[in-house]
Amino acid sequence: MNTTTKTQREFHLKSRPEGVPGKDNFELVEAEMPEPGTNQFLVQNEWLSVDPYMRGRMREGESYAEPFQIGEPMEGGCVGKVIQSNNDEFREGDYVLGNQGWREFWVSDGQGVQRIDPELDGVEIQNHLSVLGLTGMTAYVGLLEIGKLNEGETVFVSAASGAVGSIVCQIAKVKNCRVIGSAGSSMKIEWLKDVAGIDEAFNYHDTNDVSAKLKELCPDGIDVYFDNVGGDHLKGAIDNMNQNGRIVCCGAISGYNDKQPRPGPNNLFKIIGKRLRVEGFIVRDHYDLQEKFVKDMGGWIRAGKIIWEETVTQGLNNTPEAFIKLFNGDKMGKALVKV
Ligand code: NDP
Repeated sequence: MNTTTKTQREFHLKSRPEGVPGKDNFELVEAEMPEPGTNQFLVQNEWLSVDPYMRGRMREGESYAEPFQIGEPMEGGCVGKVIQSNNDEFREGDYVLGNQGWREFWVSDGQGVQRIDPELDGVEIQNHLSVLGLTGMTAYVGLLEIGKLNEGETVFVSAASGAVGSIVCQIAKVKNCRVIGSAGSSMKIEWLKDVAGIDEAFNYHDTNDVSAKLKELCPDGIDVYFDNVGGDHLKGAIDNMNQNGRIVCCGAISGYNDKQPRPGPNNLFKIIGKRLRVEGFIVRDHYDLQEKFVKDMGGWIRAGKIIWEETVTQGLNNTPEAFIKLFNGDKMGKALVKV
């Protein structure tokens, strides 16, 4: 904190990206230090989350989250410490989970903010932005609630070594499923097989025919496809789905930086013959499952059944670089920034 001048630093959206975002789309601004008013508290951020959905908010127009405005602060998940409080519920020293990332300090009256326990066994505070936060819950809700996974089924997961995908893979293994993952480097493939313990994994850069690769790795077909990627992964999965299979549409990162929407898969008619259910979901519509998620995930973590990776970028000023790495795959697991 710059106590003499009473300013804090925050990132603003400077311009809307065309294609893959660059550092020049963001501006680090010295802003006035926020002062907590009646019933408010001041938080100093310690950890920030960068997530693919933020790319959607950088463009104008319809999306499931409001677009960021040029010249206004960026937002995102964050964990910080209450350092000053006029609020009875959130006291000085409390750790909280909020949505005012991309900055050093923020004030709140507590709406939409959760207190977190910094002393949970085996869990560090930043894990509330990854395995125990919305990321882990996306995997849990998508696979179990939307995908209606049954024990012993065959599951294909794209972006399988990423924040959500790596947890999906391991929940599916907890459910005794056969799990196949795709990812973008040999190091990630090794991690998926040797550390996360999935059955088969392939580097999608090594094939120009995802459908043929899936046919080879899933000779008995796929029951649930957890789609983080869209595009040729979705087409390949549809080709290999079993009757009454489920496709969980979580994300479609392969198209997030397209300047023009690309044509859809040309095999959608197979959805009919195979009686597939294809369902999109947004994790925040499922907060009713949060308690169950925390209980199940906590149990799996304590039992050593779920492990996770975090790629930590140091320093608020490097937040745009951490974000851009989501699109070139230069990270493992959950991407976080240590302020
Ligand atoms: P990740 O940690 O998985 O990061 C993104 C990864 O996507 C990269 O590491 C990269 O890994 C891969 N990737 C990037 N570009 C491409 C491409 N063109 N083709 C294939 N893979 C690519 O992010 P998250 O786990 O946070 O999110 C995963 C997906 O889930 C995203 O699509 C996101 O939008 C979605 N999501 C949806 C939510 C919901 O409520 N529906 C909530 C949270 C996330 P690699 O090296 O393997 O290429």
